[in-house]
Amino acid sequence: GVAHEVNTPLAVITTQAQMLARQLEPNDPRTRTLDKIIKQSFRASEIVNNLLKFSRVSGSEFAELDLNRVIRETVSLVEPMLKASRISLNAQFTPALPAVYGNSGKLQQVFMNLIMNARDAMPRGGELTLATEAENGSVLVEVADNGVGIPSEHLNKIFDPFFTTKSTSRGTGLGLAVTYGIIREHAGQIRVESAVGRGTTFRLEFPAVRKEVNVT
Ligand code: ADP
Ligand code: MG
Repeated sequence: GVAHEVNTPLAVITTQAQMLARQLEPNDPRTRTLDKIIKQSFRASEIVNNLLKFSRVSGSEFAELDLNRVIRETVSLVEPMLKASRISLNAQFTPALPAVYGNSGKLQQVFMNLIMNARDAMPRGGELTLATEAENGSVLVEVADNGVGIPSEHLNKIFDPFFTTKSTSRGTGLGLAVTYGIIREHAGQIRVESAVGRGTTFRLEFPAVRKEVNVT
């Protein structure tokens, strides 16, 4: 609700500033000031839209899900982007995973965020590993890249809202904060391991749905 309330005045600021800019001669020094206003209000609405997008994802219906399927669906959305970034996919899906109880839209968002970050970490291409496994009543998912890595002094900040090392046009710093929130909502855990210059691995753990065992 707050995000919607903020978006409307932002849109007014942007369009009014654009109208003013059009009235100026191209070499008028005030053009630069107006450009800054326009650029920053665009940025503010981009942040708001990101928040909206995440809170909106397909409501909050939970169901028994196959994480292999959720990940495959996410991959099908990003495959062209990975190809264009010269990133090869190393998929290691363990068949017949136990189900997890979750919301597929939100979980897609989680994998999307992690894959996008991996892409950003491999500007000259590389390998993205997506692996699933069942273990001791949990389903484990690994998202790993062989990109730039995360300096140790950043490791405890990356899940903070608005922490980003990317240029303002590329990163909002919301991806991992939202990811963390969604995983907690699923009673899951996320851990990260990284080495600068070698790559980063995110390990996710979700409780598996327990199957009733019929004893006869
Ligand atoms: P954003 O991607 O908008 O910067 P995120 O919350 O998704 O925001 O990530 C926060 C920061 O964590 C990134 O700016 C980056 O510094 C670091 N990061 C996240 N994932 C990776 C990764 N796979 N490799 C290297 N750094 C990463
Ligand atoms: Mg991100």
